[in-house]
Amino acid sequence: MRGEFLLFSIFCLLKTIMDKQKFTGDWKCGKCGGAITELPFEPKNTDNLTCKECYLSGKGKTAPKQNNAERKMFKGDWKCGKCGGAITQLPFEPKSVSNLTCLDCFRKSQG
Ligand SMILES: [Zn+2]
Ligand SMILES: [Zn+2]
Repeated sequence: MRGEFLLFSIFCLLKTIMDKQKFTGDWKCGKCGGAITELPFEPKNTDNLTCKECYLSGKGKTAPKQNNAERKMFKGDWKCGKCGGAITQLPFEPKSVSNLTCLDCFRKSQG
């Protein structure tokens, strides 16, 4: 991602400086696989090129946010390994039930 960002920074910079100069070629977009025939710079690394459409569509978008409003809870019948109290739900599916900690003990351990 950082490489792409750098590439686009250079892309923009060169576009501003050498607006009239263009390099033609037969490259491939790393995102949509579409053909790139023209670039404002000569690409040194052709593996990471992005076409104009992908570049523009990616620019306006922010990373998709995960909806944390409804956090999935796993229900079960477990036992706290510290106080022996019952645990009926967890925010994750426990892989090992031998070392579970109830919310009270968890909070205590956090200080
Ligand atoms: Zn593309
Ligand atoms: Zn406990």
